[in-house]
Amino acid sequence: MSNTVTISVRGPVAVLAMDRPPVNSLGYDLRVGIADALDEANANPAVQAIVLTGTARAFSAGADVTEFGTPKGAKEPNLRVVITMLEDNPKPVIGAIAGQCLGGGLELALGCHFRVAAPDAQLGLPEVKIGLLPGAGGTQRLPRLIGLEAALNMIVGGAPVAAAKFAGSPLVDRVIEGDLIDGAVAFANEVLEKKLPARRARDLKVKDPQGEAFLQFARNTVGAMSKNFPAPMKCLEAVAASYGKTFEQGVAVEREGFLSLMASPESRAMRHAFTAERAAAKIPGIPEGTALRDIKKVGVIGAGTMGGGITMNFLNAGIPVVLLEMKQEALDKGLGIIRRNYENTMKKGKLKPEQVEERLAAVTGTLSYDDFADVDLVIEAVFENMDVKQTVFQTLDKVCKPGAILASNTSYLNIDKIAGFTQRPADVLGLHFFSPANVMRLLEVVRGAKTAPDVLATSMAIAKKIKKIAVVSGVCDGFIGNRMLARYGAAAQGLLNAGALPQQIDGALQKFGMAMGPFRMGDLAGLDIGWATRKRKAAEAGVPLKPSVADMLAEAGRFGQKTGAGYYRYEAGKRDPIPDPVTEKMIDEYRAANGITPRKISDDEVVQRCMFALVNEGARILDEGIAARASDIDVVYLNGYGYPLHRGGPMLYADMVGLPNVVRALRRFAAEPGADASWQPAPLLVKLAEDGKNFN
Ligand code: NAD
Repeated sequence: MSNTVTISVRGPVAVLAMDRPPVNSLGYDLRVGIADALDEANANPAVQAIVLTGTARAFSAGADVTEFGTPKGAKEPNLRVVITMLEDNPKPVIGAIAGQCLGGGLELALGCHFRVAAPDAQLGLPEVKIGLLPGAGGTQRLPRLIGLEAALNMIVGGAPVAAAKFAGSPLVDRVIEGDLIDGAVAFANEVLEKKLPARRARDLKVKDPQGEAFLQFARNTVGAMSKNFPAPMKCLEAVAASYGKTFEQGVAVEREGFLSLMASPESRAMRHAFTAERAAAKIPGIPEGTALRDIKKVGVIGAGTMGGGITMNFLNAGIPVVLLEMKQEALDKGLGIIRRNYENTMKKGKLKPEQVEERLAAVTGTLSYDDFADVDLVIEAVFENMDVKQTVFQTLDKVCKPGAILASNTSYLNIDKIAGFTQRPADVLGLHFFSPANVMRLLEVVRGAKTAPDVLATSMAIAKKIKKIAVVSGVCDGFIGNRMLARYGAAAQGLLNAGALPQQIDGALQKFGMAMGPFRMGDLAGLDIGWATRKRKAAEAGVPLKPSVADMLAEAGRFGQKTGAGYYRYEAGKRDPIPDPVTEKMIDEYRAANGITPRKISDDEVVQRCMFALVNEGARILDEGIAARASDIDVVYLNGYGYPLHRGGPMLYADMVGLPNVVRALRRFAAEPGADASWQPAPLLVKLAEDGKNFN
């Protein structure tokens, strides 16, 4: 017998308590545990009613995702069988819910005849967020208990709702303020005394005089909102089948929808993204219980684009910040932007005036490093220039207390070199935020050769505290994200040179699902930045700059949105890119000067070249150990680069296309006359393809 469920008998009531840490996920051993405990309670003549409960943390948080697709996951009794056992049980069953009651966990509770709950218990069916629908009767039982509209909102929206909101409805018969088990046992005794008939959700009818009209309205709304994602519509159709159909017919629609979603690439991508995010938090070689350093106060250097946003992250988490600038004017400007950002949030009703003041009170501006003597973590966000970084880190080494973590927000520069400017390289690492830093959820944590394990572990913990998704990267030019982006940009530039226009390339990639094509992105970020870098690199190498279309645009003063024109032109005050004949003429000139006869390029080729360029560089990054896992690369692209969630990230996309197909295409690109050497397929990619393996 499984020891996942304990039984205690209180008078005529048996309390079955599920305890499968951490959150009672419904793995095989718990399913067996529930079935066995029910049998035992039914066999005990002294027992007349049963309470099924979990722990304070969770009634059950749902299916065990680690069992998905494994023999254990399919092993009987499956969840639907266990729920039917509850519903058919000869003795009344009362669900007693505290903490999380999500997905399969809520479906389990819906199988009980009655439910009582702590007021703050979280009830939800979040399957839609991983591209699925509740597949164990949830789409049929929930509307029978709370009606079409409320059920649809929960199932299509996926957000949990506090139990107190359902007080007195057949979903939560009683909210229990005090001890949950005492309350549940008292409720069970009432059921026995009053001889209340067992209420089986499946026997109820969904009554709604406006049902058809409501469903039609919902179809229009959900259809318009769920482009690229089949799950919301399947959820809707399953819920719709609870109306005017028998329970069995409804369950058949739910089953069909569930199986088709389970096999869909979109759900595979979303489940991958879900598990990838959790996997990224684990750092190879660093045990989970590593003692952390205390971060009570943070220093930020540079109040520019990045420094301001970085500061806000900590203020939002209640951690005070000292913000340092070179000149009072720059400091005032930076602090002013922070204030304005908060005030805008307040105007949208998302912050109260006193919260704005509280946050602003927690930031201190300074021009003096003396104020850094007691900070626990410093993040440098000054100009992207090694000499400037050198001065800053040498100063930090002198003024910061021992044990303070010294971080750089550099986008490309070598963290080991920066660490070498100090006498404490073990305390140095990269914390690479993305712009706008107070909004973007990705954080690349750059591990230097000498970075101490507890510095890394502390950085991961602090990332979680400021609600970032952290991914560890090794040291290389551009780390995971920007290093790959360079190849993607070069592929797009190559297509432009060969015959495509910016609007075609951007259009094809946006149709693929990218939030923004590379040329629109360039115009947004400013074409002057890359131009300056290329000029500097050419000068450093002592060679003349080999002009590109990007340089020609910049030379003509077309820096993008900020100058009203770049690859596209922009009308005053607007951000919509308008294709521009001036750009086309420049591209023609470039082609003529370089002896290129433009050819017709298909949208498929645009997508293949840009995506496979990402994949190929990703494979090199993986092979070099810069990323610990392919899924880490996907997390970076999904959260920092507008990669479409329904594709699961570049590495999963490659798996879905089939690695041998990717290799074949890369070989074709590499074999073209004058092709860049970077098109040669990465050895790791070739090996995986030959071995019939995947990245993930
Ligand atoms: P920015 O020019 O907007 O801001 C830099 C600020 O640093 C300026 O306000 C400047 O006055 C201040 N500063 C310069 N030298 C200083 C010094 N010695 N002491 C104190 N303050 C000093 O630049 P940014 O875009 O915020 O970039 C900062 C860093 O973040 C760079 O390393 C950059 O590569 C990196 N980064 C930028 C982005 C982005 O999208 N802008 C994204 C990720 C990382």
